[in-house]
Amino acid sequence: MNNTDWYRLTIKEVIETLGTGESGLTTQEARARLLKFGPNQIREGEKASPWKIFLGQFKSFLILVLIIAAVISAMIGKHLEAIAIMAIVILAGGLGFVQEYQAERALEALKKMAALKARVIREGQEKEIAASDLVPGDVISLRTGDRVAADARLLEAINLKVDEASLTGESQTVDKSNQVIQEQNVSLGDRNNMVFMGTNVTYGRGQAVVVATGMQTEFGKIAQMLGEIEEKQTPLQISIDRVARWIGIFALTVSLLVGLLGVIQGHPLLEMFVWTVALAVAIVPEALPAVMTMTLAIGVHRMVKRHALIRKLQAVETLGAVSIICSDKTGTLTEDQMTVRKIWANHRFIEVSGAGYEPSGNFSAEEGLLDSNDEHLKLLLSASVLCNDSQLSNEKGLWTIKGDPTEGALVVAATKAKIDVRELRRKIPRMDEIPFSSERKRMTTIHLNHEGNIAYSKGAVEIILQTCDFIYQEGKEREITPKDKEVILKDAYSMSQESLRVLGIAYRKLDSTYSKDEVEFHMVFLGAVGMIDPPRRGVKEAVESCRKAGIKVIMITGDHKLTAVAIAQELGILENGRVLTGTELDALTEKEFERIVEDVQVYARVSPAHKLRIIDALAKKGKVVAMTGDGVNDAPALKKADIGVAMGITGTDVSKEASAMILTDDNFVSIVKAVEEGRTIFANIRKFLTYLLAGNMGAVFAYVVALLLKLPLPLTALQILYINLIMDGPKAVALGLEPPEPGIMEQPPRNPKVNIFSRQSLGYILGGGFWIGVVALGVFVWTLGSGSSGDFQRLSEHQLQYAMTMFFVTLTMVRTFHAFNCRSMDTSVFKLGLLSNKWLILAFFVTILTILPILYVPFLQNIFKVVPLNLKDWLIATSVSVTVLIVVEIVKLLQRARRRTSQR
Ligand code: ATP
Repeated sequence: MNNTDWYRLTIKEVIETLGTGESGLTTQEARARLLKFGPNQIREGEKASPWKIFLGQFKSFLILVLIIAAVISAMIGKHLEAIAIMAIVILAGGLGFVQEYQAERALEALKKMAALKARVIREGQEKEIAASDLVPGDVISLRTGDRVAADARLLEAINLKVDEASLTGESQTVDKSNQVIQEQNVSLGDRNNMVFMGTNVTYGRGQAVVVATGMQTEFGKIAQMLGEIEEKQTPLQISIDRVARWIGIFALTVSLLVGLLGVIQGHPLLEMFVWTVALAVAIVPEALPAVMTMTLAIGVHRMVKRHALIRKLQAVETLGAVSIICSDKTGTLTEDQMTVRKIWANHRFIEVSGAGYEPSGNFSAEEGLLDSNDEHLKLLLSASVLCNDSQLSNEKGLWTIKGDPTEGALVVAATKAKIDVRELRRKIPRMDEIPFSSERKRMTTIHLNHEGNIAYSKGAVEIILQTCDFIYQEGKEREITPKDKEVILKDAYSMSQESLRVLGIAYRKLDSTYSKDEVEFHMVFLGAVGMIDPPRRGVKEAVESCRKAGIKVIMITGDHKLTAVAIAQELGILENGRVLTGTELDALTEKEFERIVEDVQVYARVSPAHKLRIIDALAKKGKVVAMTGDGVNDAPALKKADIGVAMGITGTDVSKEASAMILTDDNFVSIVKAVEEGRTIFANIRKFLTYLLAGNMGAVFAYVVALLLKLPLPLTALQILYINLIMDGPKAVALGLEPPEPGIMEQPPRNPKVNIFSRQSLGYILGGGFWIGVVALGVFVWTLGSGSSGDFQRLSEHQLQYAMTMFFVTLTMVRTFHAFNCRSMDTSVFKLGLLSNKWLILAFFVTILTILPILYVPFLQNIFKVVPLNLKDWLIATSVSVTVLIVVEIVKLLQRARRRTSQR
């Protein structure tokens, strides 16, 4: 049967053809079909195979030169040297491979975690499964905000609208229905009774039976044609790549010049060639790309543990520069565990007792406890559970809510009033609805009771009041007066001031011939319900830590101004800043808004479209903004923000797709933790970059001076390669894993335009490099001098090798100690705790372990042209190397003192 014809079949025919039913497939059948049809996935383009990653390590120009050097060495008879160069190149390639492969795998695992889910009905039960497990014949349920996970034929469509721009390019949303289409060859955009993989449900809900999965879907067919889009590099990776290329050119120029100098001084041409190449390699931090990928990947992994799932790698570095966090209130700053506390009905307040979702508690007014049969209360609560999609259930003694907590709170309150919600919903069934949206701030449902049709509305009080011409009081309807409205609004405000979210409830009896567009008029106001949503634990402290870190927190909420203010004050978000409502914002011109945007701390009664305006205005002020969102309509703002943050639990698929980061616990605290992690990673990248470049600088400095002073060459090509490629990597990775420095959240955010090389890090590279060079060269000259009575040209072979070995060991050790310096640009390493980065301690021992065999295994001694050192030699090399620690500690001390004086 041709795939394209599903829309022409009746529901019955579709269900029969696919061998399924309204209660879905059985688990067993689904498993069998999954085997037959394969997973519901778009096949990704050719993944980098391990081989490809391995070969990729040798793509670098310098490595190629090195291979050529090995070939030439072999040709001039230096076989051992040639083999050794090749061995190191392969070893380095292997190390780079392991690092990159692991990073790839870690990122792959993350991608899986961020994968989409689908709600499917199997064996009559609705459950959530991985979208990749869907099979043809599965019955899926769709709600506003879902991303459609497969191609499916609609069984039911209630106000269902779908955005199919990703598939058809048509930006208008499409109204869906479950009616058969008779025509043939209907284009994709007109197949109104179908939904397609990759499109977004923007409104309403529905049920559909899956007809095609994976590459068989329309989306899959397009993907097949387009191939895979390449993952972009992050700005930091790009700038580091640029730096690396720059260093490459610098390296070639310097080494060519030095090589020329060597030849002029009379060193043999071929030997100088090998040496020049090695010097070039000495300048370039070969370990950098692998260390960089590794650090980002590990960082991303660490963030997952702190409930922040990174979807776009650049988020990691941008996070560290965040200067403003715009956060939704409900569920992010608050628990989203609503409990009805107060009811306004019959012109008086009723208090409700009890906590959480447990339906036990009672109702009291001024005169005392209220009878649960109070007619007005029953009417109000019945209306609020009929105009409601949530369910209360008790699972193993634990009361839980399925659906929206705001609605859940109403079901709990009704159950406290002894209303049998299930029975009520059965007796007064819903016939139609106008769903809730953040823009409308209300919802309406239309039911059938024994008298005929009746509509129930609930939503923001002022909005519901606008629709009301009548009020229910003392058991009957009467016209509502402006005075009534004034009193209601005043009482609702007083409830808002107690941090309560207040919903108004209304009804209207309808003729059987009503038109849906005319329902939300002439309604009867029944009363208002106030519910509390307590702040989340830890949020207040996180807001405080943002303040210290120079990050401003802005609350954005659809809730009432007074409720928002009450909670913002409680959390320390609102101090002396401004509060702006959506209406006030609408009244401002772009210029006017820009003038005040930096003062606003709370936005109330706003809709998602306002978020875009806020982002735009803040961006113009040069702020780096993280913004949270969960709804479909939040997606544009999430995309536009420097960091869009979606909610993992309550967020819609659409919002997740649009965001750079997903909070797996929906908690504001996790954003702040991610920022801290982002800052740490950025600082650590700077640390290992500084470390790698300083070490290389030191070696180059020593070389050039040695050559200028007409000293023998202090190091063989092989030795440089060994230090740079084998011994530096682990230390750099260890620096990338450095724990956050104390006080990292007490500094203002980094200016995103500032280069990764700060003045301070350049100082570390040049100053540190100078000291490294001086120390190593000093030892070299001293060792040469001690055995030569001043004439370096007449040294014995052994004496020269001895001096070179001392140089090799000293250079290694002084660079290793400098790694400890690089752990912080201003804090003393002793204050950080010499052992507090255990990875660096491990890397330290790895360094020692990699150097010992070279020195003491005769076969390796031969290749590396070294002689064994005795204890005294080691003591000399180590003690002069430690000076780099002492010198830098003194510099840090002076820096801190200077900063203190300037602060004073
Ligand atoms: P946030 O603080 O994350 O922006 P919010 O819940 O305050 O979330 P919305 O969900 O957009 O924002 O709700 C806006 C307003 O709509 C609420 O203040 C409330 O008055 C009303 N409202 C919320 N949920 C419902 C609902 N299920 N039915 C009717 N009205 C609702």
